[in-house]
Amino acid sequence: MKYPIIFAILCSVQIAYGQTEKDPAVTEIWTPQPVTVTPGKTPGSPPSDAIVLFDGNSLEQWVHDDGSPVKWELKDGAVTVKAKTGQIKTIQTFEDVQLHIEWRTPENVESDGQGRGNSGIFLQERYEVQVLDNFENKTYANGQAGSIYKQHAPLVNACKEPGEWQTYDIIYKAPDFNDRGNLRTPARITVLHNGVLIQNNVEIRGPSVYRGLPQYQSHKAASITLQDHGNPVSYRNIWVRQL
Ligand code: MG
Repeated sequence: MKYPIIFAILCSVQIAYGQTEKDPAVTEIWTPQPVTVTPGKTPGSPPSDAIVLFDGNSLEQWVHDDGSPVKWELKDGAVTVKAKTGQIKTIQTFEDVQLHIEWRTPENVESDGQGRGNSGIFLQERYEVQVLDNFENKTYANGQAGSIYKQHAPLVNACKEPGEWQTYDIIYKAPDFNDRGNLRTPARITVLHNGVLIQNNVEIRGPSVYRGLPQYQSHKAASITLQDHGNPVSYRNIWVRQL
């Protein structure tokens, strides 16, 4: 008596499975529909849901660390590091983002290694994507342009010549900490340099430090920071999408 029942169950499961396989609608998802976003008019211009952080005209979304207005030079649609005025950061704070930013190292090449066109983009004020003139300029691989500073060398060197505008498109996943402040999930980052993939979803080991090994410390949403490393590096067309 037991076996015919089991047989009947198996048959009905098989029929149901067969129907599932044949009906394509079973595997279609209709809701929710993705939100509509209007792409930028030209490559690199902000899509409709982006927060424009710098459009070439105004620096009102940026301050120095002490909250004072930006002292860097604003000219011809670009902002340029003024040495010794200090780094600048967004007033708004962020976690996971897609970030587009354009940068230019000085046409007049001075110095070499880490001293040539050095700046940097810090996600959450801690994790640096290096900005450096590495066009025919050798330095340690995990400190060159597009490196996650002192952690991950870029996959390739996609630098343009000094004086040319370059782009970074960054996908950043913030680290996650538990209630006691211990790391649950490290940050991850993907970077395209001038459209070329140079960081492929790598794990960030902690804040970018010059000496020693990185060590995570719990934090919340934080600013995007641009580094004053003493070289007149310029930035333009900065926008972000919160993910
Ligand atoms: Mg730097």
